[in-house]
Amino acid sequence: MKNLILITLMTIALHSASMAQTSIIAHRGSWKQSNNPQNSIASFKEAISQKVYGSEFDVHLTKDNILVLNHDHDFNGLDVEKSTYQELLAKKLPNGESIPTAEEFIKEGLKQKHTKMVFELKTSRISKERTLEAVKQSIELVKKLKAEKMVEYIAFDWDACLKFRELDKKAKVFYLTGDKTPAEIKTAKLTGPDYHFTIFKKNPTWIKECKDLKLKTNVWTVNSEEDMKFFIHEKVDYITTDETELLTKVLNK
Ligand code: MG
Repeated sequence: MKNLILITLMTIALHSASMAQTSIIAHRGSWKQSNNPQNSIASFKEAISQKVYGSEFDVHLTKDNILVLNHDHDFNGLDVEKSTYQELLAKKLPNGESIPTAEEFIKEGLKQKHTKMVFELKTSRISKERTLEAVKQSIELVKKLKAEKMVEYIAFDWDACLKFRELDKKAKVFYLTGDKTPAEIKTAKLTGPDYHFTIFKKNPTWIKECKDLKLKTNVWTVNSEEDMKFFIHEKVDYITTDETELLTKVLNK
């Protein structure tokens, strides 16, 4: 009887160890194989259909305070921060979609439960105040939509990360730039680093340090099979990739 209990416990332990594998985050949605525009509702739906852990997207604040999705500061020749939402609507994404608002996007994400929304707040080129205003509006929007459990925040601006933490004590907040040590991220009460893969390779002890400090680790943008295998072996929590189909295949091998 004792042996049976022991075997059962060992099986459960082994099973949960294998469950704690690296999760996939689609970078700007899943767009590459499916030929969708980046940061579109279509690329987000594709990521959701692949049941990845999360789908990342980039957010700017327009001149008239609407949070919209786009990677660059420029959207078809318009400076997003210096344009009104109405002005941006004059241009389309290549698949005919209008520039998505963060509100539309999050409402789409709330139709399901398995794929989180990884909300990257872009740093304002106008001022620090505009960046921090965008943080405040992002938190308010997510609270209004009751999407707190489905949204995780990432940002390159350190002060933006601190502001996210200040305004929502429970939110997952990751820092992107790569110039803070795991200990500094821990002290700031952030969830963890979300760093470019070259940063983790240059600082080979950081993933282990993060684990010891109970920080989560995310790495971007990992697109080659070789790098995927490297970071899976390192047991990072999340890999952000343009190649969701390939990473799914590598993880299932
Ligand atoms: Mg991004």
